[in-house]
Amino acid sequence: MITGIYTNTLLVTIPISLFLSIFWHLFSYWYQTRGSLAEKIKKALINNEFFLVYQPLVDSSTSKIKGVEALIRWNHPRSGFIGPDVFIPVAEQHGLINNITDFVFERTLVDWKTHTTNNLHISINVPPSYLSQNSCLEKLTLLASRYKEQGLKLGIEITERQLLDKSDRAILTDIKKLGIDVSIDDFGTGYTSLSVLEDTEFDYLKIDRCFINTIGIKSINSPVLNSIINLANNMNVLMVAEGVETKEQADYLKDHGVQLLQGYFFYKPMSFEEIATLLENN
Ligand code: C2E
Ligand code: CA
Ligand code: CA
Repeated sequence: MITGIYTNTLLVTIPISLFLSIFWHLFSYWYQTRGSLAEKIKKALINNEFFLVYQPLVDSSTSKIKGVEALIRWNHPRSGFIGPDVFIPVAEQHGLINNITDFVFERTLVDWKTHTTNNLHISINVPPSYLSQNSCLEKLTLLASRYKEQGLKLGIEITERQLLDKSDRAILTDIKKLGIDVSIDDFGTGYTSLSVLEDTEFDYLKIDRCFINTIGIKSINSPVLNSIINLANNMNVLMVAEGVETKEQADYLKDHGVQLLQGYFFYKPMSFEEIATLLENN
Protein backbone atom coordinates (compact mmCIF):
# COMPACT_ATOMS: atom_id res chain seq x y z
CA MET A 1 0.00 0.00 0.00
CA ILE A 2 2.75 2.45 1.10
CA THR A 3 4.87 1.35 -1.88
CA GLY A 4 1.84 2.12 -4.14
CA ILE A 5 1.48 5.67 -2.76
CA TYR A 6 5.24 6.12 -3.07
CA THR A 7 5.18 4.99 -6.71
CA ASN A 8 2.21 7.26 -7.50
CA THR A 9 3.96 10.26 -5.92
CA LEU A 10 7.06 9.51 -7.97
CA LEU A 11 4.98 9.18 -11.12
CA VAL A 12 3.57 12.68 -10.53
CA THR A 13 6.68 14.47 -9.22
CA ILE A 14 9.21 13.16 -11.79
CA PRO A 15 7.44 14.62 -14.85
CA ILE A 16 6.76 17.90 -13.01
CA SER A 17 10.43 18.25 -11.97
CA LEU A 18 11.51 17.31 -15.47
CA PHE A 19 9.19 19.92 -16.95
CA LEU A 20 10.35 22.60 -14.48
CA SER A 21 13.99 21.77 -15.14
CA ILE A 22 13.57 21.99 -18.95
CA PHE A 23 11.57 25.21 -18.55
CA TRP A 24 14.29 26.70 -16.31
CA HIS A 25 17.07 25.81 -18.78
CA LEU A 26 15.14 27.22 -21.72
CA PHE A 27 14.36 30.40 -19.75
CA SER A 28 18.02 30.84 -18.71
CA TYR A 29 19.16 30.30 -22.29
CA TRP A 30 16.62 32.85 -23.56
CA TYR A 31 17.59 35.36 -20.84
CA GLN A 32 21.31 34.96 -21.48
CA THR A 33 21.07 35.29 -25.25
CA ARG A 34 18.88 38.38 -24.90
CA GLY A 35 21.32 39.80 -22.37
CA SER A 36 24.23 39.10 -24.67
CA LEU A 37 22.42 40.79 -27.54
CA ALA A 38 22.33 43.94 -25.39
CA GLU A 39 26.10 43.56 -24.85
CA LYS A 40 26.58 43.13 -28.59
CA ILE A 41 24.59 46.33 -29.22
CA LYS A 42 26.85 48.24 -26.81
CA LYS A 43 29.94 46.92 -28.62
CA ALA A 44 28.38 47.64 -32.01
CA LEU A 45 27.90 51.29 -31.04
CA ILE A 46 31.56 51.53 -30.03
CA ASN A 47 32.86 49.56 -33.04
CA ASN A 48 30.74 51.47 -35.55
CA GLU A 49 28.89 48.38 -36.84
CA PHE A 50 25.60 50.18 -37.52
CA PHE A 51 24.85 52.04 -40.72
CA LEU A 52 21.84 53.67 -42.32
CA VAL A 53 19.72 53.08 -45.37
CA TYR A 54 17.19 55.54 -46.73
CA GLN A 55 13.73 54.92 -48.15
CA PRO A 56 12.10 57.62 -50.28
CA LEU A 57 8.63 59.05 -49.66
CA VAL A 58 6.98 60.12 -52.90
CA ASP A 59 4.28 62.61 -53.81
CA SER A 60 1.17 60.55 -54.70
CA SER A 61 0.31 62.78 -57.67
CA THR A 62 3.71 63.19 -59.30
CA SER A 63 5.69 60.20 -57.90
CA LYS A 64 8.52 62.67 -57.20
CA ILE A 65 10.67 62.10 -54.13
CA LYS A 66 9.66 64.48 -51.34
CA GLY A 67 11.66 63.07 -48.48
CA VAL A 68 13.43 60.05 -47.06
CA GLU A 69 13.19 57.97 -43.89
CA ALA A 70 16.47 56.91 -42.27
CA LEU A 71 16.41 53.23 -41.20
CA ILE A 72 19.14 51.59 -39.17
CA ARG A 73 20.95 48.41 -40.26
CA TRP A 74 23.39 46.15 -38.43
CA ASN A 75 25.85 43.80 -40.03
CA HIS A 76 27.34 41.92 -37.08
CA PRO A 77 30.88 40.62 -37.80
CA ARG A 78 30.00 37.04 -36.70
CA SER A 79 26.19 36.76 -36.62
CA GLY A 80 25.65 38.58 -39.93
CA PHE A 81 22.62 40.72 -40.62
CA ILE A 82 20.40 41.45 -37.60
CA GLY A 83 17.14 43.26 -38.38
CA PRO A 84 15.94 46.34 -36.47
CA ASP A 85 12.78 44.41 -35.56
CA VAL A 86 15.06 42.18 -33.46
CA PHE A 87 17.54 44.60 -31.89
CA ILE A 88 15.48 47.80 -31.47
CA PRO A 89 13.14 46.20 -28.87
CA VAL A 90 16.20 44.82 -27.00
CA ALA A 91 17.86 48.25 -27.12
CA GLU A 92 14.65 49.73 -25.70
CA GLN A 93 14.52 47.20 -22.85
CA HIS A 94 18.18 47.72 -21.93
CA GLY A 95 18.20 51.52 -21.98
CA LEU A 96 20.31 51.72 -25.15
CA ILE A 97 17.75 53.20 -27.51
CA ASN A 98 18.64 56.83 -26.83
CA ASN A 99 22.28 56.10 -27.74
CA ILE A 100 21.08 54.47 -30.95
CA THR A 101 18.88 57.49 -31.72
CA ASP A 102 21.83 59.85 -31.12
CA PHE A 103 23.87 57.68 -33.49
CA VAL A 104 21.17 57.91 -36.21
CA PHE A 105 20.94 61.72 -35.93
CA GLU A 106 24.72 62.05 -36.21
CA ARG A 107 25.28 59.43 -38.93
CA THR A 108 22.61 61.04 -41.11
CA LEU A 109 24.51 64.33 -40.94
CA VAL A 110 27.78 62.55 -41.81
CA ASP A 111 26.18 60.68 -44.75
CA TRP A 112 24.62 63.80 -46.28
CA LYS A 113 27.62 66.07 -45.72
CA THR A 114 28.86 65.69 -49.26
CA HIS A 115 25.49 65.93 -50.97
CA THR A 116 23.73 69.25 -51.50
CA THR A 117 19.96 69.03 -51.35
CA ASN A 118 17.29 71.65 -51.58
CA ASN A 119 15.60 71.26 -48.22
CA LEU A 120 15.16 67.48 -48.51
CA HIS A 121 12.97 66.17 -45.74
CA ILE A 122 14.73 63.53 -43.58
CA SER A 123 12.72 61.57 -41.02
CA ILE A 124 14.36 59.92 -38.03
CA ASN A 125 12.59 57.36 -35.83
CA VAL A 126 12.50 58.68 -32.28
CA PRO A 127 11.16 56.61 -29.36
CA PRO A 128 9.10 58.28 -26.60
CA SER A 129 11.97 57.68 -24.12
CA TYR A 130 14.09 60.12 -26.14
CA LEU A 131 11.48 62.82 -25.53
CA SER A 132 11.56 62.16 -21.78
CA GLN A 133 15.26 63.07 -21.44
CA ASN A 134 15.92 66.41 -19.72
CA SER A 135 18.33 67.32 -22.50
CA CYS A 136 15.90 66.47 -25.32
CA LEU A 137 14.93 70.00 -26.33
CA GLU A 138 18.50 71.26 -26.05
CA LYS A 139 19.76 68.40 -28.28
CA LEU A 140 17.01 68.87 -30.86
CA THR A 141 17.51 72.65 -31.01
CA LEU A 142 21.14 72.08 -31.95
CA LEU A 143 20.31 69.26 -34.38
CA ALA A 144 17.60 71.30 -36.15
CA SER A 145 20.08 74.08 -36.86
CA ARG A 146 22.83 71.67 -37.97
CA TYR A 147 20.43 69.92 -40.36
CA LYS A 148 19.31 73.30 -41.71
CA GLU A 149 22.91 74.35 -42.30
CA GLN A 150 23.33 71.21 -44.44
CA GLY A 151 20.19 72.02 -46.47
CA LEU A 152 18.11 69.30 -44.79
CA LYS A 153 14.68 69.58 -43.20
CA LEU A 154 14.57 67.46 -40.07
CA GLY A 155 11.52 65.42 -39.16
CA ILE A 156 10.94 62.94 -36.36
CA GLU A 157 8.67 59.89 -36.37
CA ILE A 158 7.16 58.96 -33.03
CA THR A 159 5.78 55.47 -32.97
CA GLU A 160 2.26 55.05 -31.81
CA ARG A 161 3.04 51.55 -30.50
CA GLN A 162 4.38 52.97 -27.26
CA LEU A 163 2.54 55.19 -24.87
CA LEU A 164 3.09 58.93 -25.22
CA ASP A 165 2.53 60.47 -21.80
CA LYS A 166 1.34 64.01 -21.15
CA SER A 167 4.82 65.53 -20.86
CA ASP A 168 6.00 63.77 -24.05
CA ARG A 169 3.01 65.26 -25.83
CA ALA A 170 3.75 68.72 -24.43
CA ILE A 171 7.34 68.60 -25.66
CA LEU A 172 6.15 67.84 -29.21
CA THR A 173 4.66 71.37 -29.29
CA ASP A 174 8.10 72.83 -28.47
CA ILE A 175 9.77 70.54 -31.01
CA LYS A 176 7.43 71.75 -33.73
CA LYS A 177 8.35 75.35 -32.85
CA LEU A 178 11.97 74.45 -33.73
CA GLY A 179 10.80 73.81 -37.30
CA ILE A 180 11.04 70.02 -36.91
CA ASP A 181 8.19 68.10 -38.54
CA VAL A 182 6.47 65.58 -36.31
CA SER A 183 4.94 62.38 -37.68
CA ILE A 184 2.86 59.88 -35.76
CA ASP A 185 4.22 56.53 -36.97
CA ASP A 186 2.43 53.16 -37.30
CA PHE A 187 -0.91 54.92 -36.80
CA GLY A 188 -3.78 52.64 -35.84
CA THR A 189 -1.72 49.90 -34.19
CA GLY A 190 -0.85 51.30 -30.79
CA TYR A 191 -1.99 53.14 -27.71
CA THR A 192 -3.07 56.53 -29.00
CA SER A 193 -6.71 57.05 -28.23
CA LEU A 194 -8.51 59.63 -30.31
CA SER A 195 -8.70 62.03 -27.36
CA VAL A 196 -4.90 61.85 -26.95
CA LEU A 197 -4.52 62.61 -30.63
CA GLU A 198 -6.62 65.72 -30.16
CA ASP A 199 -4.16 67.32 -27.76
CA THR A 200 -0.99 66.21 -29.57
CA GLU A 201 0.56 68.54 -32.11
CA PHE A 202 1.86 66.85 -35.24
CA ASP A 203 2.17 67.37 -38.99
CA TYR A 204 1.91 63.90 -40.54
CA LEU A 205 -0.04 60.78 -39.78
CA LYS A 206 1.72 57.66 -41.07
CA ILE A 207 -0.92 55.05 -41.78
CA ASP A 208 0.40 51.62 -40.83
CA ARG A 209 1.03 48.99 -43.49
CA CYS A 210 -1.66 46.66 -42.12
CA PHE A 211 -4.38 49.08 -43.33
CA ILE A 212 -2.75 49.57 -46.73
CA ASN A 213 -2.74 45.76 -47.13
CA THR A 214 -6.54 45.75 -46.96
CA ILE A 215 -6.86 47.62 -50.25
CA GLY A 216 -8.42 45.35 -52.84
CA ILE A 217 -8.34 42.33 -50.50
CA LYS A 218 -11.49 42.29 -48.36
CA SER A 219 -13.70 44.34 -50.65
CA ILE A 220 -13.33 47.18 -53.11
CA ASN A 221 -13.56 49.53 -50.16
CA SER A 222 -11.38 49.57 -47.02
CA PRO A 223 -13.69 51.03 -44.35
CA VAL A 224 -11.13 51.43 -41.52
CA LEU A 225 -8.57 52.94 -43.87
CA ASN A 226 -11.23 55.35 -45.18
CA SER A 227 -12.07 56.39 -41.61
CA ILE A 228 -8.39 57.11 -40.89
CA ILE A 229 -8.19 59.21 -44.06
CA ASN A 230 -11.31 61.16 -43.03
CA LEU A 231 -9.88 61.66 -39.56
CA ALA A 232 -6.60 63.03 -40.90
CA ASN A 233 -8.45 65.35 -43.27
CA ASN A 234 -10.64 66.64 -40.45
CA MET A 235 -7.58 67.22 -38.28
CA ASN A 236 -5.88 69.06 -41.11
CA VAL A 237 -2.75 66.92 -41.06
CA LEU A 238 -0.94 65.38 -44.01
CA MET A 239 -0.92 61.62 -44.53
CA VAL A 240 1.81 59.16 -45.43
CA ALA A 241 0.82 55.63 -46.43
CA GLU A 242 3.40 53.02 -45.42
CA GLY A 243 4.11 49.73 -47.15
CA VAL A 244 2.62 50.53 -50.56
CA GLU A 245 3.44 47.44 -52.62
CA THR A 246 1.09 47.51 -55.62
CA LYS A 247 -0.16 49.92 -58.25
CA GLU A 248 -3.71 49.25 -57.11
CA GLN A 249 -2.82 50.45 -53.61
CA ALA A 250 -0.96 53.51 -54.93
CA ASP A 251 -3.92 54.49 -57.15
CA TYR A 252 -6.46 53.96 -54.38
CA LEU A 253 -4.47 56.11 -51.95
CA LYS A 254 -3.92 58.85 -54.51
CA ASP A 255 -7.65 58.88 -55.40
CA HIS A 256 -8.52 59.12 -51.72
CA GLY A 257 -6.26 62.14 -51.19
CA VAL A 258 -3.31 60.55 -49.32
CA GLN A 259 -0.49 62.96 -50.14
CA LEU A 260 2.67 60.88 -49.59
CA LEU A 261 3.40 57.23 -50.32
CA GLN A 262 6.23 54.99 -49.13
CA GLY A 263 6.76 51.37 -50.07
CA TYR A 264 8.40 48.73 -52.24
CA PHE A 265 6.16 49.65 -55.19
CA PHE A 266 8.17 52.86 -55.48
CA TYR A 267 11.50 52.24 -53.78
CA LYS A 268 13.02 49.85 -51.26
CA PRO A 269 15.35 51.23 -48.57
CA MET A 270 18.77 51.88 -50.18
CA SER A 271 22.31 52.86 -49.31
CA PHE A 272 23.33 56.51 -49.14
CA GLU A 273 25.25 56.20 -52.43
CA GLU A 274 22.16 54.84 -54.20
CA ILE A 275 19.81 57.51 -52.86
CA ALA A 276 22.29 60.27 -53.72
CA THR A 277 22.46 59.04 -57.35
CA LEU A 278 18.69 58.66 -57.50
CA LEU A 279 18.14 62.22 -56.26
CA GLU A 280 20.54 63.59 -58.85
CA ASN A 281 18.48 61.94 -61.59
CA ASN A 282 15.05 62.63 -60.04
P1 C2E B 1 8.99 51.65 -39.41
O1 C2E B 1 9.48 52.89 -38.77
O2 C2E B 1 7.53 51.51 -39.58
O3 C2E B 1 9.75 51.55 -40.81
C1 C2E B 1 9.17 51.05 -41.96
C2 C2E B 1 9.54 49.61 -42.16
O4 C2E B 1 8.78 49.05 -43.23
C3 C2E B 1 11.00 49.42 -42.58
O5 C2E B 1 11.44 48.17 -42.06
C4 C2E B 1 10.90 49.32 -44.10
O6 C2E B 1 11.99 48.65 -44.69
C5 C2E B 1 9.62 48.51 -44.22
N1 C2E B 1 8.94 48.74 -45.51
C6 C2E B 1 8.92 49.84 -46.27
N2 C2E B 1 8.16 49.67 -47.37
C7 C2E B 1 7.67 48.42 -47.29
C8 C2E B 1 6.79 47.64 -48.13
O7 C2E B 1 6.31 48.06 -49.16
N3 C2E B 1 6.50 46.38 -47.71
C9 C2E B 1 7.02 45.85 -46.56
N4 C2E B 1 6.70 44.62 -46.25
N5 C2E B 1 7.84 46.56 -45.74
C10 C2E B 1 8.15 47.82 -46.10
P2 C2E B 1 12.79 48.03 -41.25
O8 C2E B 1 13.84 48.95 -41.80
O9 C2E B 1 13.09 46.59 -41.13
O10 C2E B 1 12.41 48.61 -39.84
C11 C2E B 1 11.47 47.99 -39.02
C12 C2E B 1 11.17 48.83 -37.83
O11 C2E B 1 12.32 48.96 -36.98
C13 C2E B 1 10.80 50.28 -38.19
O12 C2E B 1 9.46 50.34 -38.59
C14 C2E B 1 11.09 50.98 -36.88
O13 C2E B 1 10.03 50.76 -35.97
C15 C2E B 1 12.32 50.24 -36.41
N6 C2E B 1 13.49 51.02 -36.86
C16 C2E B 1 14.19 50.97 -38.02
N7 C2E B 1 15.19 51.86 -38.03
C17 C2E B 1 15.12 52.51 -36.82
C18 C2E B 1 15.89 53.56 -36.21
O14 C2E B 1 16.83 54.14 -36.80
N8 C2E B 1 15.51 53.94 -34.95
C19 C2E B 1 14.46 53.36 -34.30
N9 C2E B 1 14.16 53.80 -33.06
N10 C2E B 1 13.71 52.40 -34.85
C20 C2E B 1 14.04 51.97 -36.09
CA1 CA C 1 9.11 55.01 -39.09
CA1 CA D 1 5.87 52.77 -39.52
